[in-house]
Amino acid sequence: MEIFEANTEIYVGDKFDEVINKIKCKKAFIVTDSVMTKIGMTKKFENIFEQKNIEYKIFDEVEVDPSFEIVNKALDKVIDFLPEVIIAIGGGSSLDTAKAIKYFVKKSNLFIPLIALPTTSGTGSEVTSYAVLTDKKNNIKIPLKDNEMIPEYAILDPELTKTLPKSVVADSGIDALTHAIESYTCKGANFYTQIYALSAIRLIFKNLLRMYKDIKDDEARIEMAKASYIAGFAFEKSGLGINHSIAHAIGGKFHIAHGKINGTILPYVIRFNSEDKTTALKYYEISKDLGFPANSIEEGAESLAVAVEILNKNLGLPSCVKDLAIDEEKYKNEIEIMTKSALEDICTSGNIREVNLKNLKELFVKVYG
Ligand SMILES: [Zn+2]
Repeated sequence: MEIFEANTEIYVGDKFDEVINKIKCKKAFIVTDSVMTKIGMTKKFENIFEQKNIEYKIFDEVEVDPSFEIVNKALDKVIDFLPEVIIAIGGGSSLDTAKAIKYFVKKSNLFIPLIALPTTSGTGSEVTSYAVLTDKKNNIKIPLKDNEMIPEYAILDPELTKTLPKSVVADSGIDALTHAIESYTCKGANFYTQIYALSAIRLIFKNLLRMYKDIKDDEARIEMAKASYIAGFAFEKSGLGINHSIAHAIGGKFHIAHGKINGTILPYVIRFNSEDKTTALKYYEISKDLGFPANSIEEGAESLAVAVEILNKNLGLPSCVKDLAIDEEKYKNEIEIMTKSALEDICTSGNIREVNLKNLKELFVKVYG
């Protein structure tokens, strides 16, 4: 049986007022990071609250790779304030922090709806039940998955992505592409998830470089925001694969931005998964759809790997882990531990090709370059 249902109400454009009117809340709690408050990104929302006499509090201590400690700190404030809505404004870190808060609040038998306002286009976190938290003591990223974390509302306001730095456009955009390709090819993919995944892949190949070159290109930003959330819809239902497992392991150990490490290793993972003709077929299908050279299954799969390499190059992304300035000796010393953690990662079981300690370890060696 193939089931596909979307749990988040999506609004595209300047729709914050509309959503706030709809939920008629009197107390709101904003979760964001200090950069957002410093550059005045939260001001627009504060003004709306003041006009509508809505009591609000801002928690702007979200860090990159949010820890359990930060979630707990925010959670104490939420339980103390008891808002009627939580509003997450920011990239994946702010959204994931707010989702984890929502999850733990629910554990105390409280339900607080969540509005997600992504300021990057990539994680798809605004529509998924995943949140990645970091165990700072052991440098391990821990992906959590629970339906309680899915935001009730997501607002894709292109004004919020208008000032994104180029490196964030590249990292987050290539993350969305990784979601879409892994979703399309993984074991859990079905007819419905593949429609969304393939649409996202098309949109990303068409618009990511445009957005990277000209952040003022309104159409490219809107299309990338859509690509990001539909890739999110797709992988929410299908799961992901080892690209994410490896990225979680290397990213957690060496503090590399999630999207950057995903994009860096994506061509290697496509080639690894395509060593078998039956698994290469899915990559061939993507290439065929996009009009890349695909006269045979092998050629189609290879064309996709090459297309990602070219896109990476144009986005200023590295071509191997070595180029991320990670010391070779340190990397080698961690391979054993990283391989084990990648094998245990929740994304691994969905990978299209079966992996084991041996072939996964070989892949960790290969991606170093
Ligand atoms: Zn990702």
